Amino acid sequence: MSLLAVEHLDVRHGLLQAVRGVSFEIERGETVALIGANGAGKTTLLRAIAGAHPIAGGRIKFNGTEVTRAPSYQRVGLGIALVPEGRRLFAQMSVEENLTLARAAGRAGAWTIEAVMEAFPNLRARRHARAGTLSGGEQQATAIGRALMTNPELLMLDEVSLGLSPLVVERVYASLQMLLTSGTTIILVEQDLTRALRVAGRVFCMLEGKIVLEGRAADLTREQVTEAYFGLGKAGREATLP
Ligand code: ATP
Repeated sequence: MSLLAVEHLDVRHGLLQAVRGVSFEIERGETVALIGANGAGKTTLLRAIAGAHPIAGGRIKFNGTEVTRAPSYQRVGLGIALVPEGRRLFAQMSVEENLTLARAAGRAGAWTIEAVMEAFPNLRARRHARAGTLSGGEQQATAIGRALMTNPELLMLDEVSLGLSPLVVERVYASLQMLLTSGTTIILVEQDLTRALRVAGRVFCMLEGKIVLEGRAADLTREQVTEAYFGLGKAGREATLP
């Protein structure tokens, strides 16, 4: 049984249909990169899976349990965590307080404040600093740490590189490497195609609310991905690689 099964998912922002009939399955331990141009529907899809945005049609099953209408806190309790675009930390609270709050919402497991500090050593000295005073890289590490504190089975990362310098992006990905190899199931939205193809086992490319290309990262050529990304040529589901 797959960990996550999304069937014919429709998600709207008012009249605008941001996600159109999207279906896919993700197995335990996979790393999937979700790519696509601005406005393709990536953030909306992740938010719908997390329960942060209502679903207009279709179904979501997690670990065999239907969660389509479950509120987000229940999904966190089942093991679904989202690191949202823009991090959304409690700016007036310390790093430790942000992490502790998440613990209360999630499941029991290996992730503790100490484990987060080990994964992101740059946070150690900032543990009692208010989140609003942190650098971009420290904020992103705190946002990822907060999601980890819920002990997720599925971790979704929405553009963790956004607004960070190349050096800091390297550091964040170096810390993520441990997660990527530890068996945590991950969906990550990444604008840097080279990085996405490097870290992910599979790639989904969205265009105008649909998944127009999916395949194993090792099997996809840069040309195929670029065509799907920009909606050039005939890249569609027919072009999906086995
Ligand atoms: P980006 O890389 O810019 O975050 P994305 O692929 O994540 O893009 P979404 O943010 O999911 O795309 O947006 C999908 C569509 O939904 C876009 O047309 C966008 O304008 C629209 N949209 C997103 N959020 C809202 C909102 N709060 N209200 C109305 N329309 C929205």
